[in-house]
Amino acid sequence: CYATLSAVVKHTPAFDGKEAALLVDELRNNFTTGRTKGYEWRISQLQNIAKMIDEKERCITEALYQDLSKPELEAFMAEISNTKSSCMLAIKELKNWMAPETVKTSVTTFPSSAEIVSEPLGVVLVISAWNFPFLLSVEPVIGAIAAGNAVVLKPSEIAPATSSLLAKLFSEYLDKTTIRVIEGGVPETTALLDQKWDKIFFTGGARVGRIIMAAAAKNLTPVVLELGGKCPALVDSDVNLQVAARRIIAGKWACNNGQACIGVDYVITTKDFASKLIDALKTELKTFFGENALESKQMSRIVNSFHFKRLESMLKENGIVDYIVEGGQTNQEKLKISPTILVDVPESSSMMQEEIFGPLLPVITVQKIEDGFKVIGSKPKPLAAYLFTNNKELQKHFVQDVSAGGISINDTVVHVTVKDLPFGGVGESGIGAYHGKFSYETFSHKKGVLYRSFTGDSDLRYPPYTPKKKMV
Ligand code: NAD
Repeated sequence: CYATLSAVVKHTPAFDGKEAALLVDELRNNFTTGRTKGYEWRISQLQNIAKMIDEKERCITEALYQDLSKPELEAFMAEISNTKSSCMLAIKELKNWMAPETVKTSVTTFPSSAEIVSEPLGVVLVISAWNFPFLLSVEPVIGAIAAGNAVVLKPSEIAPATSSLLAKLFSEYLDKTTIRVIEGGVPETTALLDQKWDKIFFTGGARVGRIIMAAAAKNLTPVVLELGGKCPALVDSDVNLQVAARRIIAGKWACNNGQACIGVDYVITTKDFASKLIDALKTELKTFFGENALESKQMSRIVNSFHFKRLESMLKENGIVDYIVEGGQTNQEKLKISPTILVDVPESSSMMQEEIFGPLLPVITVQKIEDGFKVIGSKPKPLAAYLFTNNKELQKHFVQDVSAGGISINDTVVHVTVKDLPFGGVGESGIGAYHGKFSYETFSHKKGVLYRSFTGDSDLRYPPYTPKKKMV
């Protein structure tokens, strides 16, 4: 593999506002030649991404291990194979997606025909996050390329090995005149945000999301903001307990150790059922991660010491340890925190006020399962919400009345793999959506086109506007 994957924050040398302006100019000139518009360019770049994933799977796995100690199979399933399948879908469907869509016309335009024609937006910027650093970088780029745009990717500096790998791989496999990677952190991103883009696609937190939107507003640049939030899992007593527990664990600790935008942030269940659910979680945690989960190699580590301390301080807050019913062990040197379950922590605790983004799982108990709706509704709209129940009425109520980016019933996180479902937030969890055809549409403008001939030129629409014309 590449011997020199970066272990520290890597900055693109001397990348300031001037360099950023030159870069965007160069890409815009190349876009203007029309080279990215044709089917051939798009398909060849997508095929190169698929080839890159096949040929460099080992390097990608190693980079993800270096950045997050991500277990090999988790890296493969969540990032590598998921990205590859998005790419293969785009390759398979590209002709269909690009085809104009014929629509009905109006009486006013008779005789005529009309169609919706997709056109690329131009030069787009993709800014990604560190938690799934390969998937969250390449998946939007696939959409941008499929839609015929020139694209600049700015991966996260917090996953430096994957960032440097992406820079190497993109320059090796993709068309450098229209597709670039700029590495770096806040200064480089700020320099990029000062430029005029045709779309900015951002994955990250709501705080930075606001910075992105403010910068985009100066140029009326449209944005997609893929943000996060506190994703709840409401667990009824009418469930298959073992399966529910396994799927909650899969959506928490087996999903980048809780560092996932759609990972389960907290659980709500009834007071009567809580102890059964917690016992089942404890049993399955042992099955998955052994007696000493802190030593398990089946879980990613916490990404860095900043986030380790952030999570540790949640645990050290005002007597919070008293609420721990499982776990709570930490190892600062290895950046590990054991799977930790807490029951009924105060609503005012930072664990219930902030996105946890780590292996701590508060369980909130309510009298009746319906009370869980109030808890969810009292918080900003989450990126995902989960319900576990066999009760069809409750399922219907949840789907209709819980506002969230997406929902899985009787499972967690896997809705993200269904490419025909849009993936994106609502309210505080984001703006816009992508995946599958939605990615293509996110990076396209849908142009309405009307075709007429010179026949059928009625006098009705032209002055003088006589009363007789109104009668017709
Ligand atoms: P972040 O917002 O800190 O950083 C995201 C990107 O913004 C990075 O590339 C970073 O370099 C850049 N950035 C950071 N500060 C900036 C600034 N001041 N000005 C300009 N750019 C800046 O997010 P993160 O810590 O990388 O990721 C965690 C957050 O992302 C969580 O809230 C999580 O829920 C969310 N997330 C959302 C999705 C999704 O698909 N909706 C996926 C993963 C993560």
